[in-house]
Amino acid sequence: MSVEELRTVARFVNTLLLEGRDGGTPLEKLGSVDAAREWLVTRGFLDDGDRVDEVALATARSFREALRAWLWSRVDGAAAGALADLERYGRDAGLSVVFDEAGQPRLAPAALGLAALPGRFLATLAIAAEDGTLSRLRCCEVERCKFTFVDLSKNRSRRWCGPACASIRKSRTYRERKRERILGGGQP
Ligand SMILES: [Zn+2]
Repeated sequence: MSVEELRTVARFVNTLLLEGRDGGTPLEKLGSVDAAREWLVTRGFLDDGDRVDEVALATARSFREALRAWLWSRVDGAAAGALADLERYGRDAGLSVVFDEAGQPRLAPAALGLAALPGRFLATLAIAAEDGTLSRLRCCEVERCKFTFVDLSKNRSRRWCGPACASIRKSRTYRERKRERILGGGQP
């Protein structure tokens, strides 16, 4: 899967910034029908004539949070509670194998407009899982940030979205270790 396709998934998850990139105030880019329409049309996910209503937008936002929960479960190793949700979004979008005019099969949603969006992103993830590029799609390991990014490092070991989160995380690890040493030292 191309880096650009994975980046598109990351950009979608990042339409809600929990803390802003550097610990700023939360930012919701899909907060209103008009804002969401503009974001989606600009990136080619919707045609100009496609309708967006509050219900479809709420579904898109819930799908986004299921994606974030799944990405986070890959960081903290907890049971991935969002899996059944993500499967349901795929079914609801009518994700299935279709053949194009040249007879080539591909995964595509049967749904149209905004309702198709979860199917398009899930197809990207399924292909990335098959071709080994999915591990590049990562979530910042600072829990209150969870910024999603595409890891282009050689050994796919990038853990933070940027220097600010890396320093939060490193100083916390230092404090935890120090605390463990102090507690450990008090025991017989
Ligand atoms: Zn971060």
